[in-house]
Amino acid sequence: MEMEVFTERVTGMPKCLFCQDTDQTHFSKVEHIVPESLGNRQYVLPAGIVCDKCNGFFSKLENYFCHHHLASGHKLLKKYRTKKGKPPSMPLQAGEMRQDETGRVHFRQALIEGKEREQLAISFFERDVAIRVCWPLPDTDSRKISRFLTKAGIETLYFKLGAMALEPAFDFVRKYARFGSKLDFVPFLWCYHPQQSIDLFIGTFDFKKNGRFHFGTVFLPGIVYLVPLDRVEEEFAVEAIRGSLKFAGNSLNLCKHACTIKREPIELVAHLSADSGPQKTRK
Ligand SMILES: [Zn+2]
Repeated sequence: MEMEVFTERVTGMPKCLFCQDTDQTHFSKVEHIVPESLGNRQYVLPAGIVCDKCNGFFSKLENYFCHHHLASGHKLLKKYRTKKGKPPSMPLQAGEMRQDETGRVHFRQALIEGKEREQLAISFFERDVAIRVCWPLPDTDSRKISRFLTKAGIETLYFKLGAMALEPAFDFVRKYARFGSKLDFVPFLWCYHPQQSIDLFIGTFDFKKNGRFHFGTVFLPGIVYLVPLDRVEEEFAVEAIRGSLKFAGNSLNLCKHACTIKREPIELVAHLSADSGPQKTRK
């Protein structure tokens, strides 16, 4: 795997990868291509590549992605710490799941839609009472996922191939990630996948008659995403890859439009302690 980080710019002058700001006083922060709270330690762009304003803008998008992407429940089971060193938490459709300092996982969820005060709360302990639970997750805004993936894609391109990421061929996606209007949408492909590590790649797909397309590929625990980085208005490549590429035997799903994606609820058999079992609580 290519791990070289390009710290020197061919232009000899800092220029933000997204807004193209060149004021050297505006580049004080490193940029995580995938948020640290998802477990990313290795894919970081040094200060001087993404300006502080863009960095700040993307932190909101990253926060949304962490909690709403299509396999976000995995992070709780992986015991990652947040940036501030706290155990992770994430919203459910009408409640929350979080981990405490001892590693126990707590769930809180409204029993009846619209009646948030009628809550079921469960904590996981080590002693044995088995119970089957099903926890709905909040819906996902596909546009925010797509914008995050294009941001990560352009940054991966820079991480792997340096100044090539500044070429005009990638301007549409660069602007979409940072400023995208409501009318724009960059499609993405995804499927569940057993890999538990984080890996970022640039895929170059050569189609004889139709030429070359670049895709950003993001492996996160439990899922892989692909997003086109150039020629995004041509559906050809997205459809061809969907039809031919598989990950661990799974076919890719295609998200083509801005829409609300319903997520599969988290279903599991929990082992609860006998003395603290499931409790129905009223606030
Ligand atoms: Zn910028």
